[in-house]
Amino acid sequence: MDFTPTRERGQLRLSQFLPAAGRHYAENRNADDGPDAIALGGGRGNVSQLSPWLHAGLIGEAEVLQAVLGHHSPRAAEKFVAEVFWRVYFKGYLEQRPAVWADYCAGRDKALAAMEGNSGLRTAYAQATEGRTGIEAFDVWSRELVETGYLHNHARMWFASIWIFTLKLDWQLGADFFLRHLMDGDAASNTLSWRWVAGLHTKGKHYLARADNIARYTAGRPGGPLAAPGLAEDAAPLAEPHDHPRWLPDLPPPVTAADLAQPFALLLHDEAAHHAPLALPAAPALVIGASRAGARSPGAIGAPALHFTEGAMASGLAESAAAFGCPVVEWPAGAPLEPLLAQAGITRLAVPYLPAGWTRDALAPGLAPLAAQGRIVTLLGDLDRATWPHAKAGFFGVAKQIDALLGECGIAG
Ligand SMILES: Cc1cc2nc3c(=O)[nH]c(=O)nc-3n(C[C@H](O)[C@H](O)[C@H](O)COP(=O)(O)OP(=O)(O)OC[C@H]3O[C@@H](n4cnc5c(N)ncnc54)[C@H](O)[C@@H]3O)c2cc1C
Repeated sequence: MDFTPTRERGQLRLSQFLPAAGRHYAENRNADDGPDAIALGGGRGNVSQLSPWLHAGLIGEAEVLQAVLGHHSPRAAEKFVAEVFWRVYFKGYLEQRPAVWADYCAGRDKALAAMEGNSGLRTAYAQATEGRTGIEAFDVWSRELVETGYLHNHARMWFASIWIFTLKLDWQLGADFFLRHLMDGDAASNTLSWRWVAGLHTKGKHYLARADNIARYTAGRPGGPLAAPGLAEDAAPLAEPHDHPRWLPDLPPPVTAADLAQPFALLLHDEAAHHAPLALPAAPALVIGASRAGARSPGAIGAPALHFTEGAMASGLAESAAAFGCPVVEWPAGAPLEPLLAQAGITRLAVPYLPAGWTRDALAPGLAPLAAQGRIVTLLGDLDRATWPHAKAGFFGVAKQIDALLGECGIAG
């Protein structure tokens, strides 16, 4: 699969996958045929593998939904559309409970520190992350993740379940391992999916991987089904001592040309690395790139994830310069932002919404002085603005609104 981190490549993958996004997806999406299962345009045939481009903001959820509904009836595309809404739901859920993210970071750091002083834990962690546990399926996925930067959704569920309930490793260390290596590593989807598998998202309801299920859905791999002997069969879900308070912040209204009447700079970050999905109502006089690829983990970031993140920013900046005929500059970590604006004689900055996660953690302190002076215009997509208020509890709250949300956002296909 060609994961070139450009908008053009993401659009090409979308167009290649479109014929399969209807009933074919609904019926076949659960199979993990492995990274060598080359079908559509050099990628897997049953899932889109669009997540790295979506996470980087090289393509937007709304344009993906629009394209899919332009190709299939709403009924045929129902499953694929719902999966894209899972992504938006998770973002909205975390946005309303940022303490979930803060607790994850604190728990991860505690677990990493505990490992320092415990050689048994260090060995178990090394075996899991290097694919040496002796559980064939788990070891194959562990190496596949590190080598390719992508895992099939079902493999992510099985892997997380085995990590937590069979290997009995700390779930936050597993979530961190994913974030270090996934090209689509996403604070909301990753943290909340690990919590879901553990039984913390839907309290008391966990996901236990079963060897027969793994064998069934990996049967299409070139080497045949993956074996998973010795899995925990009746482990209890994890529990935590406290609930996380819910609070939906005031979401910014749609931005108009009047909001951007003065010359302004556009900030591109790792979750919005391209201007096109932002649908700006006016052209910026300067584009500023702020990649913080290393902020996702205290550990080393895997080569595919690093390459995709940095490449997405490089291609996004180059294409902005060409589209707007304006200069681009990079805002290095630790440096003040104000001089970049002052040098260009610009006071206002348009910033794509920074959802809860490491990108916000890394950029918010540097943006705070401008925010305090009222110099930031925040860009939030219609789909997020409309969907997030429904992401209060379980996915069902969003699922039952999907038709209305598509209508409200003008996504008709
Ligand atoms: C433990 C675990 C960790 C995960 N970590 C991440 C992560 O860091 N980043 C990430 O983007 N996804 C994550 N997911 C969700 C899901 O596995 C991936 O989004 C999906 O596998 C990406 O492959 P695809 O693009 O081929 O998906 P497709 O099946 O083609 O789906 C299309 C799009 O819908 C969205 N989507 C599909 N399934 C889900 C889902 N279950 N949850 C949220 N969005 C979904 C994705 O944006 C995806 O690109 C995780 C799931 C689990 C179980």
